[in-house]
Amino acid sequence: MPPIVKTVNLRKYYLAYKMGLLDRLFGKKPAWVRAVDNVNIEIEEGETLGLIGESGSGKTTLGKLLVTLERPDGGEYYFMGEKVTEDKIPWVRQQVAMVFQNPYSSLNPRLTVKEIISEPLGHFDEDRVREAMEMVGLNYREHSNKRPRELSGGQVQRVAVARAIVKRPRFIVLDEPTSALDASLQAQVLNLLMDLKEQLGLTYLFITHNIAIAYYISDRVAIMYAGKIVEMGNVDEVFKKPMHPYTQLLMKSVPTIGRKELEPPTGEVPSLVNPPPGCRFHPRCPYIMSVCKEKEPPLINVNNRQVACWLYQQ
Ligand code: SF4
Repeated sequence: MPPIVKTVNLRKYYLAYKMGLLDRLFGKKPAWVRAVDNVNIEIEEGETLGLIGESGSGKTTLGKLLVTLERPDGGEYYFMGEKVTEDKIPWVRQQVAMVFQNPYSSLNPRLTVKEIISEPLGHFDEDRVREAMEMVGLNYREHSNKRPRELSGGQVQRVAVARAIVKRPRFIVLDEPTSALDASLQAQVLNLLMDLKEQLGLTYLFITHNIAIAYYISDRVAIMYAGKIVEMGNVDEVFKKPMHPYTQLLMKSVPTIGRKELEPPTGEVPSLVNPPPGCRFHPRCPYIMSVCKEKEPPLINVNNRQVACWLYQQ
């Protein structure tokens, strides 16, 4: 069976600012934000791939490309083995969904819960809405006519999950779905997502900057840095023995017994407008070599995982 999701050198660049007439007259060159830059990933049916990285590393843009909310500027995207071209987008959209970080801003505040959940169906179907609400633990009679502002944060995120599953998709991108919730609600929503995955045979891309949550929910993880995947592999192997210097730095930021405070990675995430040449991590890397400033390391297979670093190239 082909992977449910496969990208080959997928790319998405944004204009950093809108060019005005004066900019053109004075010959100013457009500046591009390289949000997703030649990304190659595969996600097998039924697995959860955790996508980890700091804010501004391109994680959300990659998620949006995979659910076709954004169109790539280059590279290829294959869904269930089919190359996704413009005419295939309606077919892909029938089978994918995305849950966003802040449910209060991602759901229309003027609509009732039942209207929000039925939106992806294109029409109101009480049986489907009731079933989706029950699957996420919301009572139809009690909640279906309420609006988001009348619900708690945990309930609104359940509405967002019900909206995502109502069409019975195969693949869901979960973009930091628990980061706006307190710790006890986070655990409830994570367990709900894991139960739904089992019951409905779903595949997830779980976007997060929280290492502990990624470890809890993922089968494999991909580490993203400045628009690129720098390491990818089985969650236990990557977490126990991180190979890429950036993954090693991230692992040090995880609170442990005796060191409860989160230690943020040192240094700045580079600008995606003018990323450093060569390896984008070189300004922060303790193992920098001369080649690192000049040539970009490709993502290669090493010991059952993939890593992009000159330390591991022959
Ligand atoms: Fe560090 Fe060089 Fe590896 Fe980049 S390629 S992570 S700079 S050692």
